[in-house]
Amino acid sequence: MSVTIRESHSIVPPDPKLDKWERLGLLILGIGLALLFGSLFNIYNGNLKPVMLVVTMIAIFAGGLIYGLRTHLIKKPGIQNNNIMTASVSSRGAIGWMIGVILTTLYCIYYWKADWLSGMTQLFDPLSQAIRNKPSDQWFMYGTFYTMGVLIMGVKAIAKYRHSRYQTIRTSSIVFFQLIMAYTLPYFMSRLYNLEYYPTYFWPLSYKVLFPGEEVKTLLASKHEILAMCMLGWSLIATFIATPFLTYFLGKRWYCSWVCGCGGLANTVGDSWRQLSSKTVKAWKYERVTIYSVLIFVIVTTGLLWVFHVTQAESLKGFSGGLAKVYGFLIGSIMSGVIGTGFYPLLGTRIWCRFACPMAAILGIVQRFKSRFRITTNGGQCISCGNCSTYCEMGIDVRWYAQRGQDIKRASCVGCGICSAVCPRGVLSLENGPTDQREEYQIDLLGGMKARQLEQKTNQTK
Ligand code: SF4
Ligand code: SF4
Repeated sequence: MSVTIRESHSIVPPDPKLDKWERLGLLILGIGLALLFGSLFNIYNGNLKPVMLVVTMIAIFAGGLIYGLRTHLIKKPGIQNNNIMTASVSSRGAIGWMIGVILTTLYCIYYWKADWLSGMTQLFDPLSQAIRNKPSDQWFMYGTFYTMGVLIMGVKAIAKYRHSRYQTIRTSSIVFFQLIMAYTLPYFMSRLYNLEYYPTYFWPLSYKVLFPGEEVKTLLASKHEILAMCMLGWSLIATFIATPFLTYFLGKRWYCSWVCGCGGLANTVGDSWRQLSSKTVKAWKYERVTIYSVLIFVIVTTGLLWVFHVTQAESLKGFSGGLAKVYGFLIGSIMSGVIGTGFYPLLGTRIWCRFACPMAAILGIVQRFKSRFRITTNGGQCISCGNCSTYCEMGIDVRWYAQRGQDIKRASCVGCGICSAVCPRGVLSLENGPTDQREEYQIDLLGGMKARQLEQKTNQTK
């Protein structure tokens, strides 16, 4: 009788093999990507172009879906912890670094050397003509890739977290807002009215919508003035009324985890790297400095642009325009694109949301000081396994709160709910409730902790 000796003492197979369906999915995906890169050499011309576009997109969709669904539907739902901390792709190994380098390089080329991608951009001409009635450009190609990524990986995320109703509905919402509100609707509007308008991006995420820059001027000068006024009105209502009220009632999750395209990409394409976000106090201190600095930056930029518009002072023209350009380069391109997404496999997802997004900063201030949202913890049930902290993409040490039975009201929490979905003991619960019951413990924005026992408060009110 032969005896097989396993070298590993792990309770899960140390090197899980892909089954034939997973291999087939990866093969079809690989063919789709190879065809896509082939387009860089301008080899699909004339009638071949639409055919190759359809074949390429079908291969990427089919391969991604076969692999993603097969991988998760044969497993129990939820995160399994299987080899996540040792697999090269998910633990900053060689494959993780390789993906990170490829992503950051592609972002740099896309922003600053887009002509290198002209062959690939032209591959999307037939789709762009069908939707927008004009040839493709780098922004259209990027929007299409982005939306495809959210769609494919969104389906994978739904399969992965299918045990959680919250995750299923939330991920469907992310996919809906990206596909309909951030891709299809703006492009159809561009076709019908020659307007570029994204209804899911408000100030300060898009600082342009509140000052009379080119986009607003174009809106007002167009022959569809009423439509233009509606859009401007929507931007103002969304920024000054919907944002504070919805955040008061629901916390920042209504935007960061249900609507926003950046959060959508992080929770779908980036989901496999969410455990890499730093949980150190140093990172927490750093994040508070950077995110509020960006907020101040965007407030100053918007303010100066407004002053210039009202006074038309020549002395302000160069300065305010220069500031807007610096903001666009540093925050728009470097932080949100190159680092924010390119570094997913190295620093975890939500780097942009955590360290630089001015919208997240404002929502976080409301959430921290005046909101009904909190994550309640049933501390007596906690077994300190640490799953919640490990998978918190915002780097919050959730276990620290759970061990103390203390509610979580952190400004940075985006309410993704994964901490609750991966907790084996049902300790954590995302809730909206009366604001006066959120005050028993507080951690202020600068990190000092003011522990105020609920008991003391209750005694005072007796
Ligand atoms: S709250 Fe749940 S996931 Fe977090 S440490 Fe406790 S038992 Fe583990
Ligand atoms: S604390 Fe939980 S809900 Fe909040 S960001 Fe972290 S994982 Fe998401």
